[in-house]
Order: sequence, then structure tokens, then C-alpha cells
Amino acid sequence: MSFRILEQTLLFDANRILIDGERPILVDAGTGFKIEDAIAELKALLDGRELERIVLTHRHFDHVGGAKRIADEFSSELLMAPADAEVLRRGDSEATLGTDFGGRIEPMEVGDLAEGETLSTGEHDMEVIYTPGHSAGSICLYEESSATLVSGDTVFVGGIGRYDTPSASRDELEASLRKLSALKVEALYPGHGPEAKSGGSRHIINGLRMLEDYP
Ligand SMILES: [Zn+2]
Repeated sequence: MSFRILEQTLLFDANRILIDGERPILVDAGTGFKIEDAIAELKALLDGRELERIVLTHRHFDHVGGAKRIADEFSSELLMAPADAEVLRRGDSEATLGTDFGGRIEPMEVGDLAEGETLSTGEHDMEVIYTPGHSAGSICLYEESSATLVSGDTVFVGGIGRYDTPSASRDELEASLRKLSALKVEALYPGHGPEAKSGGSRHIINGLRMLEDYP
């Protein structure tokens, strides 16, 4: 399976998604609670391959709490949009909602992802799309050839991300959903809940309608 949601260790943990290939990419790291289980599963799936890159879809603790520990374990580079990278670099447990989840963020090294940049696993070519709104530095990864969107907390199967936390913006979320609605999306791998194997665009359009109904 070339896009796989890893075993969930806690209910409120974000989905950790492994994009397969010779140079696999992990998308999001979870809270880091029960991290040993997550690392053991990753090791088994990597089967000797390196994990050079971990992409973080945005700043929130349920997605980034385990990032430093996993990056240290696999000598991986952490990558995200600059607008959210800054709060991880300074280890800000408030701006990442760490304190809300009962966790702490340690300062960590994070590289910047540019809008439109392509990350290749050898099997998949994922384009970075900036989708601010849920947070200032939220991103999605998109592969045109397979019409696959890895959407973080911007859009879910049957919902959209909240926009009431620090750096979030309802208007930016609407603009980002509009931007995503121009793409052909079949498979949708969101930051929480189940994936959709087909018809992903429908969830983006429905998300836009939801925002229009609740301005
Ligand atoms: Zn979030």
C-alpha cells in the first residue's frame, strides 16, 4: 500500500501517514505519547530503508509532539511551512497547543518547505500546497498523477479544521478550501479520522459549503 495511516496509539492523536517509495516520507508525528509503539511500527514498515524526511502539516501538538523523538531516532529532517516552523524552533508549548494536550514542546530544528516544492519518494511526487486557515502555516501534499491529497487538518472526510485557535483564520481557511477545490482529488488522507479512497473533492466542496453556512 503506497499511502498508509499508521496504527493509532491514542484516540486524539493525529494520523501519521507513511508515503511509500525508496525514500519514504512520514507525514506528521502524533503527540509522542506512547512513542515507543510508534517507533517500533515505523521500523517494521521501513524494513531497513532510511526515513530522511518527516513533513509536518502544521504546528499543533497532536501532530508534532512526537516529531523530535522520531527525527532523533531515524536521523530525519523535519520539514514544514515557515509560518508554523518558527514556533517549533523556539519550543513554544502555548502556540502549538502543547499545554492544552498536557504535553510540552522542546525546541527543535525544522527546515522550511516552499509553496509548490515537490518531494519525491521515488514512487510518489508530492507537491507542497500552502493552505493557511486552520493555522498560519498549514500545508497539504498533493500528487496530481494519482489525484491524492494528504490534507492535514484543513479538510477531513466529512468536515473541516477548526479556525478558533492562535494564528487560525476563517477567511484564510475559506480561500484555502477554494484553492483545493480546483484540484482533482480522489484519495483523501486527512490528519484525523478515516481516509477516503475516492471522491475526495466532494469533501472539499462540502467543507466550503459548511463555511458559507457558518460565517
Ligand atoms: Zn490541528
